[in-house]
Amino acid sequence: MALAFEDMDFGPPDYKDMLPATLKDNYGKWKYHEHIKPGVFKHVSESGKEVYTVRTGGPKFISSATIREMCDVADKYCESTLRFTSKHSIEWIIPKKEDVDKLIKEVKKMGLPVGGTGNAMHSIVQCTGWVHCHTAATDGPGIAKAVSDELIDYFQRDDLPARLNIAASGCLNMCGAVHCSDIALLGMHRVAPPVDDSIVSTQCEVPSLIAACPTYAIKPKIIKEDDGTTRKSIAIDADKCMYCGICYGLCPGVPLANAENDGVSIWVGGKVSGARGGAAFSRLAIPFIKNNPPRWPEVIDAVKKIVKEWAKDARQDERMGEWIDRIGWTAFFERTGIEFTEKHIDDYIFSVRDMNVGSRMKGSVLKKY
Ligand code: SF4
Repeated sequence: MALAFEDMDFGPPDYKDMLPATLKDNYGKWKYHEHIKPGVFKHVSESGKEVYTVRTGGPKFISSATIREMCDVADKYCESTLRFTSKHSIEWIIPKKEDVDKLIKEVKKMGLPVGGTGNAMHSIVQCTGWVHCHTAATDGPGIAKAVSDELIDYFQRDDLPARLNIAASGCLNMCGAVHCSDIALLGMHRVAPPVDDSIVSTQCEVPSLIAACPTYAIKPKIIKEDDGTTRKSIAIDADKCMYCGICYGLCPGVPLANAENDGVSIWVGGKVSGARGGAAFSRLAIPFIKNNPPRWPEVIDAVKKIVKEWAKDARQDERMGEWIDRIGWTAFFERTGIEFTEKHIDDYIFSVRDMNVGSRMKGSVLKKY
């Protein structure tokens, strides 16, 4: 018997199947919404129906016991649905006004802070970090937790000049969206992976390993044994390596993590919103801070300094990057006390040359520049 298309297990299910009943009934009919207090929105439909959304911060890793507890609360107040956002917030959609405060009381008892809406610090986007990832130079969830604990007041109030998006990513592959956040905490490797010939030649597919490197840093190497036999391994040109970790994903013989040399860089001023000046990339503020788990005090100090200066001086609705553009980078470094180094000098125009030697570009597309 042929399967109907909708019976096949392709892709995610239709999101409309997951909507709470009230949202389904009023789908496409929302007239306006109000931010009634930190962490709480009210949406009003054309029919006059009101629905309330409470946003809480959530942990990166959640036990099944905690999820069950959350589901019990959702059963009581939220038509048996709840929503995990891509920033690890949990959103509770409540059809009855009188249930809003009851729900807030229960979720607070569970340890979930209410907030992250309007001109507040929003939940910190983060990658999976050291628990799961082989390329992480720092621990996204560990740093996010440490920074969140210190700045939790900014999450629960909404009196900052504008929203504050912080992101934490363990490496430049950026599962943590650090390219476009007001403050981005980005893991940095600083040395090329060492090569363990005994693993590479016995467990890894050398041609695939060579082909995978985006910068042509990996070359084949033949090892001659005493008995005259040969085996294949690789050599890495450290000057060409950009520490992406792709090779380690293919072969355990090139471990990238390095406890002495890995750490965190801090970037500022990015945003996705197209409002006012448009979207912007985050730009370098601090090139390197050595990892100092479990609480990363040096990173926290730097973040607090940046937030304090921005909150003191920014105009209403002025995002971090817009504030820096207005006061200038010289003033940013002076006010925050962050040291300006040669690593801050932007050599973007010359990166065309670097990209031309990359294995993906083959010197073609960018030649005209
Ligand atoms: Fe190439 Fe990336 Fe491995 Fe460096 S870390 S050798 S750039 S694949």
